[in-house]
Amino acid sequence: MLQEIRAALMLTRMILLVLKSGYNSADYILQDMEAVMEIAGFQRLMRKIYFEKDNERGREGTFVWLTEEVGELAKAVRLNDRVGMETEFADVMAWLSSLANLCEIDLEAAVFSKYAQGCPKCLASPCACLEQT
Ligand SMILES: [Zn+2]
Repeated sequence: MLQEIRAALMLTRMILLVLKSGYNSADYILQDMEAVMEIAGFQRLMRKIYFEKDNERGREGTFVWLTEEVGELAKAVRLNDRVGMETEFADVMAWLSSLANLCEIDLEAAVFSKYAQGCPKCLASPCACLEQT
């Protein structure tokens, strides 16, 4: 029963996201939904664990923490420190989600609406833009 309710909620959520993004290919949506569904779950988890502390710290303080974690990620990448990279990617995701919670931004909806159709500029996947990397 609980699983059916969850499936119905997921379907409703998917339809809302599709309507919001102006999507027209059902297969493509289903293929991409699994990936974006987990973003909302992670953001909810961060809210459950940290929202009270995040709210006390505020947006500016939380943003500072996010930038510190990005710096630590930069160091781990530069050193090719595998364990460090896993830790710092996780921390960056956590602080990014905390900041999104404080700013009342739904990360999943934001990511879906911007990237689910492919590159936001050329709409292709993989990107076919001619800009230099
Ligand atoms: Zn492109």
